[in-house]
Amino acid sequence: KGSGRNVVHFFNPHLKQKASFELQLEEDLRQALQQDNCLMLFYQPIIDLRSGALSKLEALVRWHHPLHGLLTPERFIAIAEANGFIDQLDDWVLRRACHDLNSLEHMGYPGLKIAVNCSALNLANDQLPGRIEQHLQATRCPAQCLELEVTESALLSNINRAIGLLERIRALGVCLSIDDFGTGYSSLAYLRRLPLDTLKIDRSFIQDLANSNQDREIVHAIIAMAHALHLKVVAEGVETGEQLAFLQDRGCDQVQGYLFSKPLPLEEIVSRFPPHIRP
Ligand code: C2E
Ligand code: CA
Ligand code: CA
Ligand code: CA
Repeated sequence: KGSGRNVVHFFNPHLKQKASFELQLEEDLRQALQQDNCLMLFYQPIIDLRSGALSKLEALVRWHHPLHGLLTPERFIAIAEANGFIDQLDDWVLRRACHDLNSLEHMGYPGLKIAVNCSALNLANDQLPGRIEQHLQATRCPAQCLELEVTESALLSNINRAIGLLERIRALGVCLSIDDFGTGYSSLAYLRRLPLDTLKIDRSFIQDLANSNQDREIVHAIIAMAHALHLKVVAEGVETGEQLAFLQDRGCDQVQGYLFSKPLPLEEIVSRFPPHIRP
């Protein structure tokens, strides 16, 4: 009895089942990456508020699992992070995004940007700038059409190292944005040290704008601060016309959310946002 909980856990059939389920999923994910067959990129439009035009697409990875269907990143990013192959996953995403950038240019969307999410762990990966450069060269995409989204938490663990890496990426001409802004810590102290172009206000501040005076004040203050630092502001998770009107009134630059479109395969984005409606 004194031998403790570990022993009990070991014989718990549910836990054992769960462990083998996760193991199988990890194995499946490695295979999907290797065979390059079940992972897909969905894209969500980011709309410029001044012109009303499509300005960027955020690439959001999906996994079409043969048994479990379409899985969202919450289900599998952590697996890749915990098992040391998130760099491979993010690299797959980057390569595909550059490939799609190239297609978009040929379809008549010159200058449309693609924003790609970068895992926190990858900001400690010295090879990241080189890989980005390779993908850009291979697809002959202009660097300024690619944007990297990093979260505050990604920066916290080793801020000086992360800044060094981001500066190398910025030197390639790639744009940088800080993602989920407001959900991390100590953001203000280093915000001006980072070579950023864009700040994305986290969805949690947008969702209750209609009811929360406090959230309205926070969003207003974030926009003012970002502009003072010469950053463009994107509000994410915009679902209602009321939220949109508030953001427009406060000078927010760009918006993203279900009000405009959920993330969709590239073909569907192209048919819903045809090139001729761009200025
Ligand atoms: P994120 O970067 O904050 O991405 C935005 C998430 O909010 C997406 O979820 C998107 O579908 C969802 N969303 C967008 N508009 C709305 C809205 O109006 N209402 C609501 N309720 N939700 C909205 P998704 O695609 O499930 O991605 C979840 C997270 O997974 C992302 O959060 C990002 O952190 C991560 N992720 C996605 N793709 C990648 C990737 O390629 N690499 C890495 N490392 N992480 C990724
Ligand atoms: Ca993002
Ligand atoms: Ca976000
Ligand atoms: Ca988020």
